[in-house]
Amino acid sequence: MDHVVGIDLGTTNSLIGVMEAGFPILIADANGARLTPSVVSFQNDGAPIVGQAAARMREVKPSETIYSIKRFIGLRGDELRKGDADVSYTLERRRGQPVRVLANNEPHSPEEISALILQKLKSDAETALGHAVSRAVITVPAYFNDAQRSATKRAGELAGFRVERIVNEPTAAALAYGLDKLEGRSKIAVYDLGGGTFDISILELNGGVFEVLATNGNTRLGGDDIDRALLKSISDTGNRIPESLVRLSQVLIEAKHRLSTEEKVAIDVPFFDGAKSLHLDLAREELEKVARPIIEQTRAHCLRSLADAKLTSADLDEVILVGGVTRMPLVRRIVAEIFGREPNTSQNPDEAVAIGATIQAGILSGAVRDVVLLDVTPLSLGIETFGGLMNVIIPRNSTIPIKAGEMFTTAVNQQRSMSIKVLQGEREMARDNWPLGQFEIEFEAAPKGVARVGVQFEIDANGILHVLARDTKTGGEKIVEIDSAVDVSDEAVEAMISESLDHAFDDMSERVWTEAKVKAEEMLNAVEAAFAQVGDSVDAREKEMIQQAATRVREALGTNDTRGLQAANAALDEATQGLAAALVEKAMQAAR
Ligand code: AMP
Repeated sequence: MDHVVGIDLGTTNSLIGVMEAGFPILIADANGARLTPSVVSFQNDGAPIVGQAAARMREVKPSETIYSIKRFIGLRGDELRKGDADVSYTLERRRGQPVRVLANNEPHSPEEISALILQKLKSDAETALGHAVSRAVITVPAYFNDAQRSATKRAGELAGFRVERIVNEPTAAALAYGLDKLEGRSKIAVYDLGGGTFDISILELNGGVFEVLATNGNTRLGGDDIDRALLKSISDTGNRIPESLVRLSQVLIEAKHRLSTEEKVAIDVPFFDGAKSLHLDLAREELEKVARPIIEQTRAHCLRSLADAKLTSADLDEVILVGGVTRMPLVRRIVAEIFGREPNTSQNPDEAVAIGATIQAGILSGAVRDVVLLDVTPLSLGIETFGGLMNVIIPRNSTIPIKAGEMFTTAVNQQRSMSIKVLQGEREMARDNWPLGQFEIEFEAAPKGVARVGVQFEIDANGILHVLARDTKTGGEKIVEIDSAVDVSDEAVEAMISESLDHAFDDMSERVWTEAKVKAEEMLNAVEAAFAQVGDSVDAREKEMIQQAATRVREALGTNDTRGLQAANAALDEATQGLAAALVEKAMQAAR
C-alpha cells in the first residue's frame, strides 16, 4: 500500500505519523524523539542542521538559527503583525514582497526553511519505515489564508512530497479525539495553547464534515511566556541569574513540566554560574501564580470566538485540548471555568494534531474508511455569458464533491447551438479568467430567449470536473470532463486572487456597465420586434414616447456613463408597459 504520512508542522515543534495496522503511529527519529523542534541552523559551510541539534544552536548562533518560521510563511513584508518580527535572526521585509530570512548573508524564503524541517521529518520516517514516502497531509492553523496555505503546500513540495491535502489543525485534533463520530450537528471548541501561540477554534460537525465557525487567538502567547515569567520570578527572589543561561532555562522548563503531575519539585543546578549552584524547591502553587496572568489572557479570545460563532458555552458538545501547555492543571481549571464544562483530556495534547493528520492521511491512502473526505475548490468555476461576463457556477472554496447548475438561454434568433466556455478564476470578465475547455451544444432553432440550456458543473471526490449541457426541450446533452479544475498550482491560485483584488474596482464597474449594455440591447430588440407585431394597436403619442425613450438608450450606449444607461433603461422599461401588455393580449388571443 502506498503510505501517506500526516505532518503537524508546528511553530515550535513538528511531528510526522503514519497508519500502521489501522492505528495512527507517530514516528521517532534516530534518538527516539517524536517531537522535532521546528528549527534550522545555518553553518558557515556544509548543510544546515535541523531539529534538536539546531535548537541547541539558538543560544550559540542566534543570528543564523531560524525558529518560528511558521509566523512568516506566506506573508508579505507589510503583513507582519506587531511583535512578530521580533526574532534573533534578520528578516527581509519589503512592502508587497514575500518575507525572507537572512542566514549566512543569503536570503531564504520561509518555504525553503520549512522544507528543510519537512525533509528531516521525511528522512526520519523513511529510515524508520524502511521505504520511501512521497505523499503527505500537512496541517495549518484554521485562520491561515490562501497564501499561507499555498506556501505551506509549496514547502511540502520543495521537501519532495506530493501534498495530498492541507488540513486545519483543529479539524485534525477533533479527528484524533474521535469527534467525527459525534451524532447530529455537534459543536466543538478546540483550545490550543502551544509553546508560542494560542488558537481557539469553534467547529461544527455535520454529517462527518467539520466546518470552522470561528477562530481567534494570539500568535504571541504560549508556554514560552510562562518560561520567561518563571525565570524572571526566580531571579527576582534574589537568585542572580543571567537570562541567557540555557542550562538553567532547560531545568526550569523540565520543572514546569513535572509540576503538571507533581505538587512540588526540587531544582538542583550545580555550578551553573562558575562556582555557584542553585538549589530550590518549587511548588505548583508558585508556578501557577506566575502562569495565571498569562493563561487568563486566553479567556477573552475564547469568549470572542463563541460570540463570533453566535453560540454560548451551553451550545458546545465538547471542549478539547491541544498543545503541551494544556497539560497544566491550572489551564484545565481555567478552560473549565471559561466554557462551564470539563474539557476532554482523553488524548495526548501535544500529539493530537499530528495523530489527526495521520488519520486523514490514512483515509487518503485507503487505510481508514468511513470518514467523509473534505477538499475545497481553489478558484471559482463558471462559464462565459452575454457581453463576455464570467458567470460563476461553483464559487471558490466550495467543498468537494459538489454539484451546481444554472439555466441559460440564447441571445440570437434562430440560434442552433451554444458555445459553452468553461472558465476558472476570480475576475468579472470572462477574458481575464483561465479557459479550461470549450464545447458546443446544439438544439432546435428557436426565437432568441426561447431555447433553454441547462448547464451543470459537478466536481467528484477525485477533483474531476464534469460539465454537462442539456437542451431542456429535446433532452439532447453533452458532457465533457476536465481534470485540471482542482489541481491548480498554488502560485497560479495566489496570482489569480491577488490580480482579482488589484482589479476589483475596475472589474466591478465593467461588469455593471456590461450588464446594463446587455439589458439595453435586449430591450431595443424587443421594442423593434413588438412594434412589428402589435405596432398598430399602440396610439401615436405612446409610440412617440417609446421611440424617444429608445433614442435615449441608444445615446447612453454611446457614452461610458453606467448610471445614465441604467436610468435610460429604466425609463424605456416604464414607457413600454402598454406595449408589453398589448403583446400579451395578442398572444392570448392567438391561444384562444
Ligand atoms: P507545543 O507547541 O504544543 O509542542 O507545546 C509546547 C509547549 O508546551 C512548551 O511551552 C512546553 O514547555 C509546554 N509543555 C509541554 N509539556 C508540558 C507539561 N507536561 N506541562 C506544562 N507545559 C508543558
